[in-house]
Amino acid sequence: MDHIKRAIRTIPDHPKPGIQFRDVTTLLGDAAAFRAAIDAMVYPFAGNKIDKVAGIEARGFILGGAVAHQLSVGFVPVRKKGKLPHDTIAESYELEYGTDEVEIHTDAIKDGENILIVDDLIATGGTAEAAIKLLRRAGANIVGASFIIDLPNLGGARRVTNLGVPVTRLVEFEGD
Ligand code: AMP
Repeated sequence: MDHIKRAIRTIPDHPKPGIQFRDVTTLLGDAAAFRAAIDAMVYPFAGNKIDKVAGIEARGFILGGAVAHQLSVGFVPVRKKGKLPHDTIAESYELEYGTDEVEIHTDAIKDGENILIVDDLIATGGTAEAAIKLLRRAGANIVGASFIIDLPNLGGARRVTNLGVPVTRLVEFEGD
């Protein structure tokens, strides 16, 4: 996983002082690292009966689309509020200041479908928790949540595991 970790660029103090932004655009631009990351995200689930991948806007769309393609399954976009054109259900979650909402189409999931959640990074786990609650309300059986990066100091992986969803991640960065 060293080459994957090295392909991720860190931008200090972005978007505000004290945040180390883990930028995966450099990984996406590196063909070998991109393929290695997708292969490693897919590997633990290759034997599972996944029906769809749910990717969280926006980097989860890029990664989740590739993972879905490799698993030969469908893809569900978990979008920020107000972007989806058809009937939606929404779940709100706390931000540092205020709240945000994620949405899916009401017909995106069939009852009992096995869903794998994909995003680039898990920090506090707030976004992933909202996605899990939303997808479960739609009838999903969440079989796992897969991330390239975990920031273990922020406890997000534990938060998601406590919801009964196994977490897989490829690399960890200390700090927040
Ligand atoms: P959280 O809900 O706290 O787990 O935050 C996860 C979401 O915020 C993911 O969609 C990440 O892309 C983004 N994010 C949070 N912290 C960072 C960070 N340090 N670097 C890059 N993206 C981040």
